[in-house]
Amino acid sequence: MSPEREMLPPGVFSTGFHTLRHGQFDITVMSDGYITLPGEILMPEASQQERVATLGRLGGDMEGAPLQTNVPLIRRGTDLILVDTGAGSNFQPSDGRLGANLHSIGADPASITKVVFTHAHPDHSGGTTKPDGSLLFPNAYYYVSEAEWSFWTDPDYEAAMPKALHEFARGAQRDLFAVKDRLTLVKPGDEIISGMSVVGTRGHTPGHISLELAGDGNLLIAGDVIPNNIVSFENPTWHFGFDTESEIALANRKSLLDKAANEKLRMLGYHWSYPGVGYVDRYGSAYKFVEG
Ligand SMILES: [Zn+2]
Repeated sequence: MSPEREMLPPGVFSTGFHTLRHGQFDITVMSDGYITLPGEILMPEASQQERVATLGRLGGDMEGAPLQTNVPLIRRGTDLILVDTGAGSNFQPSDGRLGANLHSIGADPASITKVVFTHAHPDHSGGTTKPDGSLLFPNAYYYVSEAEWSFWTDPDYEAAMPKALHEFARGAQRDLFAVKDRLTLVKPGDEIISGMSVVGTRGHTPGHISLELAGDGNLLIAGDVIPNNIVSFENPTWHFGFDTESEIALANRKSLLDKAANEKLRMLGYHWSYPGVGYVDRYGSAYKFVEG
């Protein structure tokens, strides 16, 4: 690290990434790169015409579209908190950039004090370990919901889950078991630190959580409750192919969009257009995303 970087005050990085202050929290939205999802996963119910048009608006082609991965790095006092660890080398070649991007702003992975997992899908927890199995964030304490832990670490997962989830389960077990000795299981209503509370948003996975940060109005770090700021806002009745509890996910997504529009709730979405920070406005019977 250069002497100049060492002189920067705590929480201030040399950064080209989007930064914002919310209440007592200084947030830098890091990027883990992007993932590509096929149209039939992103919008299984869309007509061929809707699918082609929407994939095009997302910058994709006939088959699929790239989605950003926005990882919040949050400073409050002596804590430096990551929400999710990105994909590491465990998902797609276009993601797994978090470590390099932290390095590029002078943030030492060893200085991360806490990591909160919204859920244990490979694009959210796959960056927990390096390829040799050691922890990328060796000094952090880790947090995941009790329900997420029980779902993925079920020793009988092969009998309990559809085959399509088996590889996800093996990945989740790899990541969660790697931090087992440093892991705290949380439930909705718990605080990670003062002003940062766990909100239950199950559906995408059975133990999916979001984080509410107190400030002038709340900021909700939403994870994958609302997968995309175009598809999910404009079509709140569409299912998402990667939701484990499909109907619960749909109901929770719709009610969160509704609440966010009513309360002018500021949100940060993991796969929304970078930096993924903004508000929900009503638009006819659906919604539109307003950056801010
Ligand atoms: Zn995701």
